[in-house]
Amino acid sequence: MALHKIIDNLLAKHFQEGYDKDDKNFIKFLEAVSSHYNTFERDKKITEHAFTISEKEYVNVTENLKAQNEITKKSIEKLKDAIIHLSPHRATAFKQHDSDDDNDIISIISFLSELIKKSKALELDLIKAKEFAEKAALAKSEFLSVMSHEIRTPLNAIIGTISLFKFQEGLDEPKKDLLRVMEISSENLLSLINDVLDFSKMEEGKIHFAERDIEIKAFLKNIRLANRVRAEEKGNNLKVMLDDDIPDFVIGDDLRLGQILNNLISNAVKFTRNGTVTITASLEKRTPEYIELYFEVADTGIGIPEDKQKLIFERFTQANNNITREYGGSGLGLTIIKRLLLLQGSEIQLASTVGKGSKFFFYLKFKSSDSKAKELSEVSTLKSDLNGISILLVEDVEFNIFVAEMMLGNWNAKVDKAENGHVAIDKIKNNHYDLVLMDIQMPVMDGYTATQEIRKFNTTVPIIALTASISIDIQEKATEVGMNGFITKPFNPNELFAIISKNV
Ligand code: ADP
Repeated sequence: MALHKIIDNLLAKHFQEGYDKDDKNFIKFLEAVSSHYNTFERDKKITEHAFTISEKEYVNVTENLKAQNEITKKSIEKLKDAIIHLSPHRATAFKQHDSDDDNDIISIISFLSELIKKSKALELDLIKAKEFAEKAALAKSEFLSVMSHEIRTPLNAIIGTISLFKFQEGLDEPKKDLLRVMEISSENLLSLINDVLDFSKMEEGKIHFAERDIEIKAFLKNIRLANRVRAEEKGNNLKVMLDDDIPDFVIGDDLRLGQILNNLISNAVKFTRNGTVTITASLEKRTPEYIELYFEVADTGIGIPEDKQKLIFERFTQANNNITREYGGSGLGLTIIKRLLLLQGSEIQLASTVGKGSKFFFYLKFKSSDSKAKELSEVSTLKSDLNGISILLVEDVEFNIFVAEMMLGNWNAKVDKAENGHVAIDKIKNNHYDLVLMDIQMPVMDGYTATQEIRKFNTTVPIIALTASISIDIQEKATEVGMNGFITKPFNPNELFAIISKNV
């Protein structure tokens, strides 16, 4: 075994003449001492290496700490700047202990806790303000709905009386003209009430869209029928053009679609004399999930100047100031249409030339429906008279009874009366009626409850709701409880006739 260098040196120095290499004990001794030297040197190297490593680590850690301190300082500076920006009076507080991070942090924490307190107080204020606004909106909508109901009742009397006068024979022309003025004015007032009520509902975001089967072709023909008399009175021809590809049924909100189209048609008729108003519907796109239809209401009337074409969709705006005097209206109709379509992902569009006419059009998506068209279109079953048809009129207001009875009598219908839902149930149990006209709001038993009771023993007799409210919710509820249709009071004789003859 090779001996450690130091042993070799010592042997060379102290045993210059050599030593006994056969002396086993001496050789063992030399080897033991040499091994100790080797172990000592190895341990020394390891210790030195470990020391170098920890020194490096120490330098690294210190550098990291320095960098972190820098970042912390910069962050504190940024926070201070932001806080001074938010609340300038704090600048002095920060300056007093310039570059003292601990104090800065205390100031920042106090600022933040103040901020949290303030934002909590603000949140509470906001909640209170929101509750207050909600209460105010509710009060406004309740006020509007009560007022509209209250205004509709006397208006019902006025419009009803006018309708009765119109039936009289032998009226001279000046009297007919006066009646016409009264009729137009009261109808304008009615549509204003309806529009204001609808508009406020829309502003509250209360509008929702129903999903019902719509037999679209029959639906459009009925719309034409309801508007035909008014159109003819102004010498207008009202046409419906239907694309054969339109499916029998689509699923959507028929009431809202009717509202949109009726409004466009009534405008077209209003602004056209001795011309043509054409309702067009065609299939735009069909996928397995939905059907997109194109609707258009075109007229050959006065037209709308280009600079007014955008404005008329704003609320309470009309194309010119003479419009109200000459044609009436509130300027709300198109705004309501625009919003109703927007809520359904569609947009009303307009093309118009002054003196030539206007064309309002839109595309609307519906869900596909599996229903098939009825063999006989509802329109073609319309009768010209109600002779021999027995009708139960369920109504509590004297005047409404009087008007309805006169109208029904003029069409030769047989009329029986019940003053509330309870009496109606008894009468229907004991007699046969072809149709029931049922008021909704009545003492003792209202129209909804009465219908629900009647449907327990008679599922066939058609029940038509008479409602003073145009609220779509009420109309939907009428369908839900088992009514077959509804007509809003004050009723237009044409609509009353159409709905009765369609259902008997
Ligand atoms: P209203 O008819 O109640 O005044 P609308 O919002 O329905 O309110 O219409 C706003 C205005 O747009 C009307 O006053 C009229 O100036 C113009 N307008 C709407 N439709 C037509 C049309 N078919 N032809 C000419 N002008 C129209």
